[in-house]
Amino acid sequence: MQQGFTQTIDGRGEDSPTSFDVINPATGEAFARCPDATSEQLDRAVAAARRAFLAWRGTSQEQRRAALQAFGAAVRERTDEIAALLTREQGKPLQRAKEEIQRALANLEGIVANRLETEVLRDDARGRVEIQHHPLGVIGAITPWNVPILLAMPKIAQALYTGNTIVLKPSPYTPLTTLLLGEIARDAFPAGVVNILAGGNDFGRWMTEHAGIDKISFTGSVATGKRVMASAAATLKRVTLELGGNDAAIVLDDVDVKAIAPKLFWAAFGNSGQICQAIKRLYVHENVYDALCDALVAIAGSVRIGEGFEEGVLLGPVQNRMQYERVLELLADTKRQPGVRILCGGDALPRPGYFIAPTIVADIAEGTRLVDEEPFGPVLPVLRFRDVDDALRRANDSRFGLAGSVWSADEARAKAVAEQLEVGTAWINHHLGVEADVPFGGFKESGIGREYGIDGLRHYSEVRAVSRPLFPPRPAAPGAKP
Ligand code: NAD
Repeated sequence: MQQGFTQTIDGRGEDSPTSFDVINPATGEAFARCPDATSEQLDRAVAAARRAFLAWRGTSQEQRRAALQAFGAAVRERTDEIAALLTREQGKPLQRAKEEIQRALANLEGIVANRLETEVLRDDARGRVEIQHHPLGVIGAITPWNVPILLAMPKIAQALYTGNTIVLKPSPYTPLTTLLLGEIARDAFPAGVVNILAGGNDFGRWMTEHAGIDKISFTGSVATGKRVMASAAATLKRVTLELGGNDAAIVLDDVDVKAIAPKLFWAAFGNSGQICQAIKRLYVHENVYDALCDALVAIAGSVRIGEGFEEGVLLGPVQNRMQYERVLELLADTKRQPGVRILCGGDALPRPGYFIAPTIVADIAEGTRLVDEEPFGPVLPVLRFRDVDDALRRANDSRFGLAGSVWSADEARAKAVAEQLEVGTAWINHHLGVEADVPFGGFKESGIGREYGIDGLRHYSEVRAVSRPLFPPRPAAPGAKP
């Protein structure tokens, strides 16, 4: 049993009076103990972050960029160690764990290349008005378990780069790699600028209620996002909510099936389907429907599934028992639907751990749980359409609106359809991924606010108008004495 992981509070490593098990999803067995932070530790972390804010906000953007880049370099040096721990706690193949860290570091570099500058709104006969961006104070960041490093890193980078300090809590399913980030941050930033504590859902709620936290940057499910927003209302905290998705990909009738099938497959099944912006509803024109289903099933059959340290493994387990049972329940419900065909998979794998075979479901329609809900597992429903407008209407008929894509040999045709998707990101002949200079977030119940890009930085700042108006002299009132 691995022990000795510490939280970071006011620049120092700290244990907690109690701890909880961290499970390896590839075995279903506990492999480590993680400190379980108390509310008193949260109070001290927030107080430290408030103290540190007073000096940190006075540093220049260049100083903060340099500190974040030094932090990134120190994380890079420990990539192998963090990746191995990520595979153990999250389940993804080791190579994918390394890629997650590399992508997180590339995003950090991209974020500090963005510039949120003071704007001069006017400087004329009416006076001079500057729009300045002021840091908010202490950011409370809460992350889920699917890509813990990829999600923690931009929150740290955006919060710090804009002059805020941070208290971050990872998911209790995958807390350990984020604690390592805290350990590295102790040497990279002044005490109190980065605080990382581990705890369960109650700890997250305490953060949303805490009067010393000015904003919550939350990534997780829609249901929890609503709780976060309701709780944040009591202190009028700012919130950014990056929530679930049920992304549609629309495949038009002129595609090269062989060329796009692998791209579609990995956009749906990468990280075992546990990506907010994975393809979760695949709408395919009837002319290419059977050919594309066959191609996807062939890929599913060729992919090696297993423990992330095994050579050649491309897909790992579902990350935790709760999610595993939820996906199996969705599969049981799917099997009860008349006319639905399970083309491959459909069951758990007969081995320890939370493994589910990649599952492709044909002849399924809206009104079923698998299509209407977010499965967040290795299951893809493939829906048939004849008319593009009908596909668009069905794709948009959802409370989710995170991302979507349109696939066609004719890019202009795909773009015209993509522009009608009610989503925060609409891709053309591509699906998945964030870029540090491109704002990312959801329409509808997929979220509020944006991360990444200049928009992302704005969401970590308050706007202050500094104004020197030159009002024209008032006309003297009739009868007024000079
Ligand atoms: P979750 O909502 O259950 O948990 C997310 C985090 O919130 C965890 O750290 C958890 O401990 C904490 N939490 C739980 N209850 C809380 C409360 N009342 N107050 C404050 N914090 C609380 O989500 P999950 O199951 O960990 O993650 C999967 C979900 O995350 C999926 O819906 C997925 O689509 C979504 N997600 C979204 C994005 C995005 O950028 N839009 C990215 C990744 C994952």
